Amino acid sequence: MNHNSIRIIDNLAEITSYHDRHVLEKSLLKTINELFPAKDIRLFRVSEQSDNHDLSLLAYCVNDVIVSSDENPRLVTEDKGISETIFQAIEAGDVQLSSTENGLWNLVYPAFDAHGDIFAVLLISTDLVPSNGDQRLIYGILRVYSNYLALIEKTQKDKLTGLYNRETLDNEITKILVRQGRHFNDQITSPNDSRRRSFAVKYWLGVIDIDNFKTINDNFGHLYGDEVIILVARLMTSGLIRDDDLVYRYGGEEFVVVLKAANEDDAMHTFERIREMVAAHKFPQINQVTISIGFVEIVAQSSPADVIGEADEALYYAKGNGRNQVHSYSRLLQEGKVKSVSKVAHGGVELF
Ligand code: GH3
Ligand code: MG
Ligand code: MG
Repeated sequence: MNHNSIRIIDNLAEITSYHDRHVLEKSLLKTINELFPAKDIRLFRVSEQSDNHDLSLLAYCVNDVIVSSDENPRLVTEDKGISETIFQAIEAGDVQLSSTENGLWNLVYPAFDAHGDIFAVLLISTDLVPSNGDQRLIYGILRVYSNYLALIEKTQKDKLTGLYNRETLDNEITKILVRQGRHFNDQITSPNDSRRRSFAVKYWLGVIDIDNFKTINDNFGHLYGDEVIILVARLMTSGLIRDDDLVYRYGGEEFVVVLKAANEDDAMHTFERIREMVAAHKFPQINQVTISIGFVEIVAQSSPADVIGEADEALYYAKGNGRNQVHSYSRLLQEGKVKSVSKVAHGGVELF
């Protein structure tokens, strides 16, 4: 075995050693850059929006520094020449090449999912066009990435609804808490930096529970109940606007939505829209199914359990107050309608 093959195997082993898709994507770029050093390497997600394709940056590698869009979601450079080559590659379903004014080559490789659809594209900007052997290697590595990503996604999804499962939720909340904690400290050290403040993204978590679900099960049977869970899951997903807002199946007929919104009113609107969509839907046989929602900002709580505990508190309030409604934990707290979850916990009451 020659030295190059050993490097390739080592890199493939590294790619497949991570279970987090953002780390996997960074590792993919690291591998491509190591085997085939380039000026700029970028990985885009391709999603089909009605007739056209929508691109979002997943990760990039410039001057050997690799960043995941998870860490810096704003960094997308718009270049007309590049997007044209990307769309040609999607159209052709094969690698496309174009030259730039500063003597570089842009190579765009499509990556296919298990159904043969293009779900991502890899862009390599280089001054040296890769050999046929290198092209094969890049395609092969992209296939390892696609297959492995499909496997990771399978373990993260709930079988009945296809939503993300509870295990993935904890990781997501932890990541957001760490990120928001950083912003929080920034603001304390430089409170007058209005630019930084206005850029800060806010995340909101809503716990959603179907109202009187036991009655549905009792009157129409468990299988019908499952059908309702699937329908509610679909309605919730379609009620979200942003591609990166996430829906989880938290338990039997309980869901969690994590979304980005600039302020509490905007978050309230989105949760209200979800509630209304479900309430307005005509379900077969029973006509109406309603949901109750409690939500809270994911900001400086000490653990994912605290975040969920606070949203749960607002959910219980909705349940006790007539159901089919949305409540914000911090608003209820201000109005003195719920107790602080952390205070209750310190009082020695076991919550979870
Ligand atoms: P509330 O409005 O207070 O939420 O009333 P509820 O009847 O919905 O009460 P609760 O949320 O406590 O009960 C949920 C029931 O859902 C309990 C369980 O029998 C049923 N359930 C849990 N998981 C599943 C599932 O996967 N499929 C079906 N069909 N039923 C489930
Ligand atoms: Mg429940
Ligand atoms: Mg319920």
